[in-house]
Amino acid sequence: MSQQIAAIILAAGRGARAGGGLPKQWRLLAGRPVVAHSLAAFRAAGIKRMVLVIHPDDRDRAQAVCDVDVACVEGGSDRGASVRAALEALAANAPPQKVLIHDGARPLVSRDLIAGVLAGLETSHAAAPGLAVIDALWQGAQGRVVASVPRAGLFRAQTPQGFDFETILQAHRAHAGGAADDVEIAASAGLGVAITRGSEDNFKLTYPADFDRAEKVLSQKQADQMDFRIGNGFDVHRFGPGEGCWLCGVLVAHDRGLQGHSDADVGMHALTDAIYGALAEGDIGRHFPPSEAQWKGAASDIFLRHACARMTARGYRIGNCDVTLVCERPKIGPYAVAMQHCLAGIMGCDTDRISVKATTSERLGFTGREEGIAALATVSLLRA
Ligand code: MG
Repeated sequence: MSQQIAAIILAAGRGARAGGGLPKQWRLLAGRPVVAHSLAAFRAAGIKRMVLVIHPDDRDRAQAVCDVDVACVEGGSDRGASVRAALEALAANAPPQKVLIHDGARPLVSRDLIAGVLAGLETSHAAAPGLAVIDALWQGAQGRVVASVPRAGLFRAQTPQGFDFETILQAHRAHAGGAADDVEIAASAGLGVAITRGSEDNFKLTYPADFDRAEKVLSQKQADQMDFRIGNGFDVHRFGPGEGCWLCGVLVAHDRGLQGHSDADVGMHALTDAIYGALAEGDIGRHFPPSEAQWKGAASDIFLRHACARMTARGYRIGNCDVTLVCERPKIGPYAVAMQHCLAGIMGCDTDRISVKATTSERLGFTGREEGIAALATVSLLRA
């Protein structure tokens, strides 16, 4: 993701309700300052430019968490002034197109939640995560309920709140007086704000017990990350008459074709079997029996899409995959990048998670005699 998206992390508050003798954003959570978790979350989401807004007293603490991608800016007397200071700092030097503004005390923000806000910004000048209010709402006074408040259409606001940079900069410059958050400032400037999906885990550390809750969520996340799977796949198809071979979704010119029940895409079959293998869900033959005529001549992306759908349903995503084609001819090198892109499109992941390479077998064996092509694939699946 480019420098065109910047994130502002607000950490200038003095919030002492959380206890611990330090402003809450600087207390340790799982061995690191709270704000370091927030910075790491945006880094993991691909954000390459961040502004950390700090209190002047915290300059030394900030040094320890800042990296080349983080600029430190001193905040103002309230939240609005702190955001304004960060916006002006960004405006002064190669302003970004979009900005995400985040409470540093929400350290458990996820990559998916950030991606949801960015997706919202594709069709709206402003987008922010919210959670529908589920509980009944009361208005109380002196320990007694004085009224019930209709909850329909009410949301609990979260961050990061995302905006077109220039639009929110102008809105902040024009806004007089305080505001609960940047959505309020955007709305008061007449901006429509899209509501994206929030998360219960994206809570704001406020009270001492919130730290225990955050530690529990983090240790569960770590356990989930350790739960990764590996699978391998192997496939062979023989040469027959034809004018090219389907390999990893690309038609490769050749003086022969590959024979098989489907389109005989040996690379895609090995990869598909590696995914089924990682899930311990058998192989292509189990899900698409060759005895069934409907799969005759089928394009093999049907199989790969099915394996990826199973992967998603089981709660995994692609970590990486590596496909090796074994043949003397055709030469694979000129097609490898196209194959990588084709597989990435089918699997819905970044191309840098997919490797396609080839080797000969030194003219030995059936591949060496050019009787057919073999393919091997390895895949790792991570918890989604
Ligand atoms: Mg096959």
